[in-house]
Amino acid sequence: MRDIPADHPRALSLRLRETIEHFRQQGLVAETGPIAHGRGEAFDYILGEATPELVKHDIYTAAALLLEARHPIISVNGNAAVLAPEALIELSRTIPAELEVNVFYGRTQDRERKIADYLISKGASKVLGVNPTAKIPRLTSSRGRVDKDGIAKADVVLIPLEDGDRTEALVAWGKKVISIDLNPLSRTALKANINICDNLIRAVPLLTSAVIELRQDPDRRRQLVDSCDNNLSICRVLQFMASRLVRFPFDHGLVRIQNADESHIDFIVTATQSCIEEGSLSHRQRKVVHEFMRDRLDKEGIFILVATFNGRPCGYGDGECRDDGTFYLARLVVAKPFRGMGIGSAILSKIEDIARSQGCHKIVLETLVSCRQAQALYSMHNFNPEGFLTKDGYKCDFIVMGKHL
Ligand code: ATP
Repeated sequence: MRDIPADHPRALSLRLRETIEHFRQQGLVAETGPIAHGRGEAFDYILGEATPELVKHDIYTAAALLLEARHPIISVNGNAAVLAPEALIELSRTIPAELEVNVFYGRTQDRERKIADYLISKGASKVLGVNPTAKIPRLTSSRGRVDKDGIAKADVVLIPLEDGDRTEALVAWGKKVISIDLNPLSRTALKANINICDNLIRAVPLLTSAVIELRQDPDRRRQLVDSCDNNLSICRVLQFMASRLVRFPFDHGLVRIQNADESHIDFIVTATQSCIEEGSLSHRQRKVVHEFMRDRLDKEGIFILVATFNGRPCGYGDGECRDDGTFYLARLVVAKPFRGMGIGSAILSKIEDIARSQGCHKIVLETLVSCRQAQALYSMHNFNPEGFLTKDGYKCDFIVMGKHL
């Protein structure tokens, strides 16, 4: 294998790639094994290359299923065998559950034997699945072959990496299937009874620890088994991934919220005018010109916040504390190319912090009846409609919204 510098920021990832490629050349990993590995890596980036708390719950559910099983089996393909041999052997001893070689692509006795021998060289006492004679019903070709003393007899099958077709056939055969698959949208993940959306190199040791912990706790095991809902797990993982993607500009320091200064006035005026033209701000806001904003910059009790994206202004919000203890949010603007990224929410949250720190008990604002997007944002932040206003001289109706702090 190539020399990978230990201080390379992605040394582990590079080592795993090299491992997969090395064992592909040795005939343990399928020709398409590196592609499957790459697909996993892509999803692991989105996951943050760490096991999320919500996935740990699925790991406990899987551990409970394995402990409650009459005949659990761990099905091991080429990729899994070379990525985490010791961890899989440890898990198999801890449950206990036998290991069975599972080869989907290009199944040959030679490859089955190589994988089994490799696991034995790493400490496994027995490996099933070499030249197996039983068949998964309804699966054609050699991919349906399973060991008569292993998967054929099993009631629970753990499949760290599997093909969707085989997963579906195993479930249809009446097996409870636990998959480990980084892609929550793969057919395997969707068809399994529970999917662990994690890299198997992290998930397998965590599964072993969960098995040890749950062994003494039958009540919790039952509760985990009874509440197992793969659709819920998949949706929660997808939500987690989506929120990581959405938070990207914030987590990477691309968006900052700061007090406005003179240098932001041009942006504030231009962005305000664009919003008036598109109809998301009322014509009353034509008063927002350079002089008007410059004046506000210097006034006590008035707060103007600017959001920047990668150093460029992209939104602003301004408002003031009133004598009656309310904070009046005069405007909240996000320039068009920066919408949908959570920048409006970030400004609004900062405004709320300011209002609280100034001792205000409520925030109030007026927004155009026609501007649904703004209303949705305020509703999301728990602002409630309090009434309607028509301002003389302008054909605009406003909703007054408020939020108690
Ligand atoms: P389907 O389940 O829809 O048939 P697929 O065609 O991608 O999906 P395979 O190629 O058999 O199925 O399986 C590879 C799966 O394993 C991919 O979904 C990939 O995300 C996942 N995967 C690859 N490496 C890892 C890993 N180290 N840990 C967990 N999952 C991984």
